[in-house]
Amino acid sequence: MKTIGILGSTGSIGTQSLDVAKKRGYRVSFLTAGSNAALMEQQIREFHPEKAALLNEAKARELKMRVSDTSTRILSGEEGICECAANSGADIVINAIVGLAGLRPTLAVLNAGKNLALANKESLVAGGELVLSEAEKHHAKILPVDSEHSAIFQCLQGKPSNAAVKKIILTASGGPFFGKTEKDLEKVTVKQALNHPNWSMGAKITIDSATMFNKGLELIEAVRLFHVRPSQVDIVVHRESIVHSLVMYDDNSVIAQLGLPDMRIPIQYALTYPERYESPVEELDLAKCGTLTFFAPDEKTFRCIDLCRQAVEKGGLYPAAVNSANEEANAMFRAGQIRFLEIPRLIEAASAAVHNQEHFTIDDVFSIDRQMRETVRALAKV
Ligand code: NAD
Ligand code: MG
Repeated sequence: MKTIGILGSTGSIGTQSLDVAKKRGYRVSFLTAGSNAALMEQQIREFHPEKAALLNEAKARELKMRVSDTSTRILSGEEGICECAANSGADIVINAIVGLAGLRPTLAVLNAGKNLALANKESLVAGGELVLSEAEKHHAKILPVDSEHSAIFQCLQGKPSNAAVKKIILTASGGPFFGKTEKDLEKVTVKQALNHPNWSMGAKITIDSATMFNKGLELIEAVRLFHVRPSQVDIVVHRESIVHSLVMYDDNSVIAQLGLPDMRIPIQYALTYPERYESPVEELDLAKCGTLTFFAPDEKTFRCIDLCRQAVEKGGLYPAAVNSANEEANAMFRAGQIRFLEIPRLIEAASAAVHNQEHFTIDDVFSIDRQMRETVRALAKV
């Protein structure tokens, strides 16, 4: 029986991961989350982990009281979360934390030589070489959970060497504002931006899908995971979210992975790789889909894609800088403090001030994080 651990178990990916774990009969060695003590209590009673941690200290104390009749040990703070990540009986750990907060836990899992099923793309984008070299040093695998990267990973199975890959083609749903002009976007509301056509996800990534910063993060994620140049990653808008991404080989043959838009397929594949099993997801019926459509992305209106492409081309701390600027701007938009189109403007203006360095440490990443968040707030006068 497989044993898994989940970082971010109360979120969208976290709860779907528990659903997969239940159906596959996996043991759960630990769970962590931000502050949702009530849901964490339910998860502890159902999955009996050895350890659980909440970031919020007061909520962790409340949780400790709620589950004092169980044998689960309750930890708190980022330290408690990293302690779960580093010292557990898990064969594989899912990182489903949102944002740069996932970076230290990602490094802790890899440092312990554990395989990492990675949904938390921000840690790979910002941590870059730090994350990849930690995996290599400790012989730990990083298995993609993001649906596009899971698709690419699946399309690459059986390929003898990377040399034959000409291009990676990332599909994008286009989000709720597909086809809109810059003028239309001036006045869009948080509620409209949170209304994603195909996927039900956490709030931060849903806004990133509306700005298409999410596709920019995924471009960087693809460069890191599959060792390709940024110019080898194409993006195509595919409204139906059935084709999850594609690989073009040197002979111009293109392999795609298809399925209904349900994260439990990529989550399960990351956990069972290289094997496959029955999943709770419905069969794809192509005749029912009827038409699948593809469009070039409008990168002039959705400028976040190019901001990310430029950041990965510059390298060093730039990807971390644009990621942190976006995290702050995304949160400010959700809080009603700035308008939608200020998100790309603030990211561009804040990252222009970055003094880049090619090689960096984790402290440099968190120092650029603080700097970018302050700059974004100062520029927005918030
Ligand atoms: P979510 O907001 O639904 O859940 C986030 C989880 O992280 C929760 O358990 C929350 O308690 C915890 N958390 C939040 N802040 C934290 C902090 N500072 N420290 C520790 N824990 C914290 O988010 P989600 O939609 O599940 O996304 C999680 C990650 O997966 C993101 O990186 C996202 O980009 C990626 N992802 C999500 C989807 C999806 O369908 N939801 C698809 C692809 C990739
Ligand atoms: Mg994705």
